[in-house]
Amino acid sequence: MDLIDRLYHKINETPWSPKVLLAQSYAQGHQLLEQICKRYGAIFNIEVQTPWGVVTANAKSELFRRKVTLLDEDQVVWVVRQLMKQLAEKNPEGYITESLLKPGIVKQVSCAITDMRLAGIDSDEVWVEHFTSQRKGEYLKRLLAAYEVYLLEHARTDFAGLAPYLKPGTGDKLYLTIAPSGWTQVEQIMIHKLSAGQLCILDAEDPFYINQDFSNNGFKMFRAAGSLAEVKEGFRRILSEQAPLDRMEIILSDYEQYAPIIHSHAEGLGIACTFSNGLPLVYCAAGKAAAGIVDWIAEGFPVHRLTDMLRHGYISFPEERWSRADWVRLLEKSAIGWSRERYLAVLRPERLSEQDREQGAVLYSHMKNWFDRLPEGNEWDPVFLLGWVSDFVQRYVPARSVDDADVGTMLTEMTRRYSLSPSEPMPMDIAVQYVKEMLTGITIRSAAVPKQGVIHISSLQNGGWSGRDVTWIVGMDERTWSISALQDPLLLDQEREKLSTHLESAKERVSKIRSERESRLSNIRGNIWLSYSSYDVGEQKSTSPAFEMLQVLRLQLGDMSIDFGTLEHSLGEPYSVMDIMHSVESSVPLDEVDAWSGLLQGANYNCKDGWNAVLQTYPALAAGYQAQTSRQYERLSAYDGWLEIVPSSDFSDPDDPPHRDAISVSQLEKYASCGLQYYFHYVLKLRPKDNVEFDQIRWLQASERGTLLHDVFRRYLEVVTDHGAKRPIHSRERLVEIMESVIRENALSVPAPSAHVFAKECEEIRCDVEIFYIHETGRTGQPSFFELELTNLDGEPMEIHLPGGVRFKLKGFVDRVDRIGPHEYRITDYKTGSTGKYKDSEYFCGGTQLQHAIYSIAVEQWLRETGKDPEAKVTEAEYYFPTERGRGENVIRLQNRREELTAIIAKLLDSRNRGVYIPTKEPKVCQWCDYQAVCGSHSEWMVEKRGSAVNVDILNSLLEVESIG
Ligand code: SF4
Repeated sequence: MDLIDRLYHKINETPWSPKVLLAQSYAQGHQLLEQICKRYGAIFNIEVQTPWGVVTANAKSELFRRKVTLLDEDQVVWVVRQLMKQLAEKNPEGYITESLLKPGIVKQVSCAITDMRLAGIDSDEVWVEHFTSQRKGEYLKRLLAAYEVYLLEHARTDFAGLAPYLKPGTGDKLYLTIAPSGWTQVEQIMIHKLSAGQLCILDAEDPFYINQDFSNNGFKMFRAAGSLAEVKEGFRRILSEQAPLDRMEIILSDYEQYAPIIHSHAEGLGIACTFSNGLPLVYCAAGKAAAGIVDWIAEGFPVHRLTDMLRHGYISFPEERWSRADWVRLLEKSAIGWSRERYLAVLRPERLSEQDREQGAVLYSHMKNWFDRLPEGNEWDPVFLLGWVSDFVQRYVPARSVDDADVGTMLTEMTRRYSLSPSEPMPMDIAVQYVKEMLTGITIRSAAVPKQGVIHISSLQNGGWSGRDVTWIVGMDERTWSISALQDPLLLDQEREKLSTHLESAKERVSKIRSERESRLSNIRGNIWLSYSSYDVGEQKSTSPAFEMLQVLRLQLGDMSIDFGTLEHSLGEPYSVMDIMHSVESSVPLDEVDAWSGLLQGANYNCKDGWNAVLQTYPALAAGYQAQTSRQYERLSAYDGWLEIVPSSDFSDPDDPPHRDAISVSQLEKYASCGLQYYFHYVLKLRPKDNVEFDQIRWLQASERGTLLHDVFRRYLEVVTDHGAKRPIHSRERLVEIMESVIRENALSVPAPSAHVFAKECEEIRCDVEIFYIHETGRTGQPSFFELELTNLDGEPMEIHLPGGVRFKLKGFVDRVDRIGPHEYRITDYKTGSTGKYKDSEYFCGGTQLQHAIYSIAVEQWLRETGKDPEAKVTEAEYYFPTERGRGENVIRLQNRREELTAIIAKLLDSRNRGVYIPTKEPKVCQWCDYQAVCGSHSEWMVEKRGSAVNVDILNSLLEVESIG
């Protein structure tokens, strides 16, 4: 007789008297009764209960009468935390100080208190000498005493304190349970009180490896290279055997690892499943939104978290006038980046363009509402934060599925439950940890008992009770099946032993878990599949099967002497993600990977050549392949950026489209540096996403800092020269005043990540400005124009006339123009980087440094055309490095090579207009290029093509420019 038979006969001994089946869980109890019904028909007069359920139900009326509230497990943790805080405040040097009140430590202490109470230990029975550390002993004794007082004073009780509220049983009900019960000392006392001697404990089944009934099952074993391959192989077998799905249970040895894999495959195949432990809340939009918004807070409010959630549809704003894409666009282009200050500063209506103002105002009001209700500093309360998250989900998550609605309801319920517990303010990171911990308690699609028509997924801790015909135990590797024998880090085994015989040691716990598991699995009947993953993809190492797998094989073969070698041999080769082990006839393809592997499978495990078939089926892959091979041919092609445009005969014709649009110096220089980069940027207009990332150690990006310094220099020189009307009268105080004012303005629009980072960068800026001041006081000449925009009298881009009749339209700004003699000028370009790129021998630097020469001509032309100085001559151009990094140096370029400049520009324009957009000749430039991911090693492949005679006609003009120093 197996357990089901024995249980049935026990129930039927007294069919008319009421009975209670005390199970470890309601799910276990209901599955047991279902198995009995299936085997014997209907039974009655029996109800399923758990120790918690039966005890709390009995005590309920007395608790109500005495106005005492029962705390659940989570509420106990909060009470313990509060008491720990009080102890830490009273004794700052105590065993656990306030700074140690982290969620993990509090949980550990709370478990120790609960263990002691469930073992029936009072605080006056705790002797300090029983502990390895006197401080620990004193602390736990004091905490337990404070906990007892708290319960008494606040009219609360926990489960361990329910005994005084129980009405003793009358002996009219028979209580049944299965060994090992796993009850604690206090549970045993309470259940004996309730049962009044009417308690029957049925023996557990023998362990599966010596169980005769279990040995009559049918067994199949396999292994696979990785957990994904293991699940895929299992599903192939499920489909090929065409077993009814509701006659199958899958027991996951490592539920957390395997449940998502099983879920995604089952969903992909349209196979319905019930999950005994549910799925984490992040498997639905509302759960992703709840977890995402907590991460958003924890990480300092980075805007990309919001845009990601909007883009995936996890959240949306209620106003229907704008789509989710509109919100994403607004958030991204406003360059908020992160921090609550930046959201509120950047979204101010006056900062937004006319077209964005209305939507921006709505977004601002949402953000303000969020931030107004979020605490600051050390005032974060986890329960309040949980309420905030719950409210956020209700308002901003479009509930599209039952799961979304469930998550919303569970969050509301959880907030209500926790709000009964004491909580207090704490730093944000700790409050967030608590909320994350609370969220892990929410699962979706939990179905403790199997449902008709679907596969039931259970775990190694609760599986094996369904009585289904096929049971597949997944993930039977040695690591997963071993049970950790680590002792409790707080209440050590030797301390437990001295405190009470009812406190379980680690060894006892391991033995209890093992024997419960072995007898539970003995109840499985029918066909049993056992599998494990022989390779851990994450760790990149082989794994061994669990000893229990070997025991099953021994049982199956009736030979207890066989070893792991025999097991490995019987398992054969591991299955892989691609189905290459089954013959084409017997294979059931799960997905396109399996379908392809079937098509490509040749005789004797040889692979057929499927190259052409793949290219024909996937045109995008074929195009990519053609691009890659073409790039490696000697002759230039479109895939190298050679577009074969027929140019206009007169490249200076302003009516010809390529010449009609104004070109900037930086465009020309970029073209000379890398034609392909120019093509991506200016022709295709491909831009990297302008997402401002949160950087905890930077206030200003390099470009922002450069703009700030330019602003300081300009404002200062405008003041001390009366807008260029007179020679400068220098004043350090004035410069510092302007600099501090510019820093303040920047701090408003770009909040710093911390006061420390802000102070550090301000100090660096002050050093740069001091360098500027020192060098400025020693300079001759009169600064006359600042941030000069190069336009004609109508405000349009200027048309520049070069010797030889070459004309082109130019747009741009010149940082500064100084008068250095009668009708003689110098233009200056501030540089805030290093001087490395600007060598004396590299006047044009292969066409990549044209600015000084072109701007000199442009400024000269501007001064004359506007009548500011009809005889103006720009004789010098200067790259000026007025910062600590540039040591105040300047690189002067005398303006005496205009014919050469004309030739360079003509050649660059000619090359561009003929459609030459090839990669750079300097592969190291690619390291900092935004298009690196597209190009790969393209610039290196170009080295030979550049020198090849077949390309000489195409590249002639460009190569000539590149050779000019
Ligand atoms: S990665 Fe290199 S070759 Fe490609 S566009 Fe950038 S600089 Fe040019």
